[in-house]
Amino acid sequence: MARRRQLYEGKAKILFEGPEPGTLVQYFKDDATAFNAQKKGVITGKGVLNNRISEYLMQRLGEIGIPTHFVRRLNMREQLIREVEIIPVEVVVRNVAAGSLSARLGIQEGTRLPRSIVEYYYKNDALNDPMVSEEHITAFGWAHPADMDDIVNLTLRINDFLTGLFLGVGISLIDFKVEFGRLWENEDMRIVLADEISPDNCRLWDAKTNEKMDKDRFRRDLGRVEEAYQEVARRLGILPEAGVRDVKGPEIMQ
Ligand code: UDP
Repeated sequence: MARRRQLYEGKAKILFEGPEPGTLVQYFKDDATAFNAQKKGVITGKGVLNNRISEYLMQRLGEIGIPTHFVRRLNMREQLIREVEIIPVEVVVRNVAAGSLSARLGIQEGTRLPRSIVEYYYKNDALNDPMVSEEHITAFGWAHPADMDDIVNLTLRINDFLTGLFLGVGISLIDFKVEFGRLWENEDMRIVLADEISPDNCRLWDAKTNEKMDKDRFRRDLGRVEEAYQEVARRLGILPEAGVRDVKGPEIMQ
């Protein structure tokens, strides 16, 4: 296989130059980090599952008119994406109190919020991704006010749609993080959903038992981490019952 130029290595993914200008290849690793990379580990098969889960969710979102960077899955660990200019803001939506919201405001985990709450964090590892307001984002020019309108609208639509989609397979969408990018087409710019949507950046609880089925199992040493990611994929219908073995198998190019 031809060697490709690696452009960027993050905590969970690697970006390579794509086959055509304006495209990139996004490679999903099994590496897991938490608490701003103070905790490191490997979740066997996570990259394969997140590649599939994110493919599935981005495709479903695309069908309801959410523009995304996703083009197509290439193989078990890689997908082709459009190259975008990432907006350095993590957008978090919360439906139920958990994680940092519970810790900061003293609201018990599992408390349903009166309405969905959107929060912004400045993407900056050295600063530990500090929470910021729309004022900071527009004042420092990370995004324009018109971009923020698009971002909030898209985020709330994504939340509504994913909440229903997950509930349909017996999973409560507690909260999640998304990232957006600017996609340039000649003189036109569109804000599109980028990065990934997977149990790495969503809180997913079993709708009946409230059992955690996401990265909190790794963050909090709850065990059965691989099984939780597999179960999410299985419920979404993208991992055949007999296919779990494939996840640990060799990295076959399809
Ligand atoms: N999240 C993420 N990346 C981050 C921080 C948070 O994907 O760098 C996700 C996390 O998985 C959860 C949601 O955003 O679904 C809210 O996370 P929270 O602010 O509670 O942070 P935590 O305490 O989990 O780091």
